[in-house]
Amino acid sequence: MNQSETLFQEAVTVMPGGVNSPVRAFGSVGTTPRFIKSAKGACLYDEDGNQYMDYIGSWGPMILGHANEAVIDSVTEACRRGLSFGAATAIEVEMAKLVCQLIPSIEMVRMVNSGTEAVMSAIRLARGYTGRNKIIKFTGCYHGHSDSLLVKAGSGVMTSGVPDSLGVPAGCTQDTLSADYNNLDTVTEHFKRCGEEIAAVIVEPVAANMGVVPPKPGFLEGLKDICREYGSLLIFDEVITGFRLGIDGAQGYFGVTPDLTTFGKIIGGGMPVGAYGGKREIMELVSPVGGVYQAGTLSGNPVAMAAGITQLTILKEHPEYYTELNQRADQFYRSMQEIFEKAGHSWQVNHVGSLGCLYFTEQEVTDYESAKTSDTEAFARYCNYMMEHGVYLAPSQFEAMFLSLAHTEELLNDTLKIMEQYVR
Ligand SMILES: *Cc1c(COP(=O)(O)O)cnc(C)c1O
Repeated sequence: MNQSETLFQEAVTVMPGGVNSPVRAFGSVGTTPRFIKSAKGACLYDEDGNQYMDYIGSWGPMILGHANEAVIDSVTEACRRGLSFGAATAIEVEMAKLVCQLIPSIEMVRMVNSGTEAVMSAIRLARGYTGRNKIIKFTGCYHGHSDSLLVKAGSGVMTSGVPDSLGVPAGCTQDTLSADYNNLDTVTEHFKRCGEEIAAVIVEPVAANMGVVPPKPGFLEGLKDICREYGSLLIFDEVITGFRLGIDGAQGYFGVTPDLTTFGKIIGGGMPVGAYGGKREIMELVSPVGGVYQAGTLSGNPVAMAAGITQLTILKEHPEYYTELNQRADQFYRSMQEIFEKAGHSWQVNHVGSLGCLYFTEQEVTDYESAKTSDTEAFARYCNYMMEHGVYLAPSQFEAMFLSLAHTEELLNDTLKIMEQYVR
């Protein structure tokens, strides 16, 4: 048995599934996890000394590549000054100013410790601000694991959400309405029935938790229009897209401005950070100024802020990085599609900028239903082959590939060669 297998045997006896987050268990591809010891640039190294070209990037944060020197230096310096004070610090002001400067729709921001917490708080704020209870979410979009967002994939006709997890009382999801991604009609139906009760529509501006599904032209604009018509708030969950598609996120990329935005992943540079922000008028309802309670012992933690600020500052100072990354990614995903086409497979490669997904289906993927037509067993075979040949992919058909600035053309071409081998 190798080190990873030995560790996994121990892990399952002391942690549910041997992991601290379910997808890491590799259950959906029928294998067991590699235990990672270190990472640098675009590569991961496991406990057995194997090297992998990494296409997860810690699920997004590592847009500069792993163990970026400047980020590590700033974190090390911050550590020496103390890990946490539970008090106001200059570095929090710096982070807030930076976020407000980078994202035009944000006039005030609150830092939290995860994407889940950011979304949960933004929903509470939207409800507090509008005095309404109902929210609309899209089937196949993921917004963290807070109770009201763990609803079963539903059809548009359902007037209240059904819990998708044990331990979530029906009362927690009854005000969560489901709509279909890229389908404005399913949204309009809800608004026609109970528009005056809808506090907010929450959406991933690029859906990146059912593979990668781009918004159709007019979809995000349509959401904005209908929200305005009914006095509801539009929330963009930019936990993945924020600072990834461009420095101003999906809202800059598509030119549609939400009322509230949530962040996670990249904003923390690899540390546990989330944030939510928006118009001053709405944000001033958050405690201690307003009546929407929200707090956090470690929120705005100085070490986490140091990592995030350093990464964001590098990205801000190098706008050409996004041009390069997105161009390299376009080329990479196009080459992938060509490789599969040449081999006679009409599998779908969806991508937006550096986010991409290979779906094992011949159907165009535009929403959850079409994503579900993928052959997940075919994906598992492909994923395991790639892993065995040193390409570390997210072990699920319904997760994205994340490219980083450390993915050189050479490394991407090496990966493409392994894909070519696979189809042969
Ligand atoms: C990852 C993710 C979350 C949850 O963030 P955590 O930090 O894992 O709690 C929320 N929304 C989206 C779009 C995500 O991708």
